[in-house]
Amino acid sequence: MEFRYCPRCATELEMRPSGGPDPDRPTCPNCGFVHYENPTPTVQAWIERDGRYLALRRNEEPKKGEWNMPGGFVEAGETGPEAAAREVLEETGLEVDVVEHLGAFPSTYGSGEDAQPIIGLAYRCLVTGGAEEISDESEEGSWFTLADFPEPAFRDERVALALLRDRRPG
Ligand SMILES: [Zn+2]
Repeated sequence: MEFRYCPRCATELEMRPSGGPDPDRPTCPNCGFVHYENPTPTVQAWIERDGRYLALRRNEEPKKGEWNMPGGFVEAGETGPEAAAREVLEETGLEVDVVEHLGAFPSTYGSGEDAQPIIGLAYRCLVTGGAEEISDESEEGSWFTLADFPEPAFRDERVALALLRDRRPG
């Protein structure tokens, strides 16, 4: 989401150059409001079982019909692993242990004017319980080897997939 006008006083924002390594920021010349474009944290869960990972086919926009990882937005007060385990349980019925933090990758959610900057926290998880039952948020779920894994819908997931493929050739 890009702000053009000040949300406080409706004056048109101007780009103010940053003094340091920070990016330039839209600033209100009238009241001094500064628009910080900070990403919203999301989680993506790479659930590993017998050398395969679970992917879900999205049943909702954006990117309806494309594959992606179980995951979603972090709730206030949650740790990343807590958010990942919660989303996995909601979307797949599986209980998981988060065993590895793969990285934090910038991306966007949505498209055009509604595109929202996110930072995807990627985790590798192992199944500890539950029974697989894919929620209505997805059309289907399927387990893929890394070699056969479909192109994920979001950039942060594609980066994580490349990382997993790089360190486990074949
Ligand atoms: Zn203002």
